[in-house]
Amino acid sequence: MRNGLSGLWRSPFLAPVVCRMRSLFLILTTSWFFAGSALAVEPALKPAANSTVIRSWRHGAWLVQETANFRVYGLPELKAVRSLPGACEALRTQLLETWFSRAGDNWSPKCDVVVHAGLSGYVKALGPGSEQSSGCATIEIEPGRVAKRRIDLRGDASDCFDCALPHELTHVIVAERFTRTRIPRWADEGMAILAETRQKQERRRVAFQRSLASARPYSMTELTTLAEYPASGRLEIFYGQSASLVAYLIERESPAKFLEFLELSTTLPAGQALARVYGVPDWRELELVWRTRMLTPGESAELLAARVNEITAFRTVD
Ligand SMILES: [Zn+2]
Repeated sequence: MRNGLSGLWRSPFLAPVVCRMRSLFLILTTSWFFAGSALAVEPALKPAANSTVIRSWRHGAWLVQETANFRVYGLPELKAVRSLPGACEALRTQLLETWFSRAGDNWSPKCDVVVHAGLSGYVKALGPGSEQSSGCATIEIEPGRVAKRRIDLRGDASDCFDCALPHELTHVIVAERFTRTRIPRWADEGMAILAETRQKQERRRVAFQRSLASARPYSMTELTTLAEYPASGRLEIFYGQSASLVAYLIERESPAKFLEFLELSTTLPAGQALARVYGVPDWRELELVWRTRMLTPGESAELLAARVNEITAFRTVD
């Protein structure tokens, strides 16, 4: 049951990279690219129950399939192409209910999901610098609304559907809540990482731990005030700490409280917002507890990853 999740979030005390300024945010996933055989994605996706394709047509070489919230572009040869629209809808539902406890209204405009056959088409669409990623969300925000939603994926990347797609879709979904203020970078990435597979998250934790041997972690103040992505030498630490802080805070209270904290932290120093939302007299004590748990995945994070993986595997979640 999806609504059983809310109780688990309350378990206490567990522990890409380009931005176009002004109204256009371009977020690249930093998923390491694991090349798989092109157009041979397994297992084949099974359509979700709520995944009605309203219409489909050919646009050049593309097969375009439209659902209530998505317009999915893929080459007809791609094994998963027929199942992708349903998987996108199921993922959207799961992520909306996880973070906002509701299904939400249909999107207008719909979210374009473009699955490129390989590197050349992907880089041609996104430009130089995109070679190291396997997915990219492009979100255009006008005051009070999302004006454009688009996800580009490399269909030849082995983590394309089970990691890059839910990661990028989380960015798109979270943007709904932050159309007048900018979501803090660490929170945006931390939430997106929690939608990746457990295996991928474990690899991130290993890389994070390895980096800690030669570099110090961020303090909570440093992490929560980072305006841009750090240099490559500190990226693993940034991602590791971002994911762990999101997991820690949602388990301390709930996703709703966490989002309340994020909104408040756009107008107050994060320490003050933490104290006010989480009711701790000294937020530094909260930081001390979190830092002892930075390498712990957290059971809510594990559960979210499992539920996302149920869809990307590709089965629906009851
Ligand atoms: Zn990301």
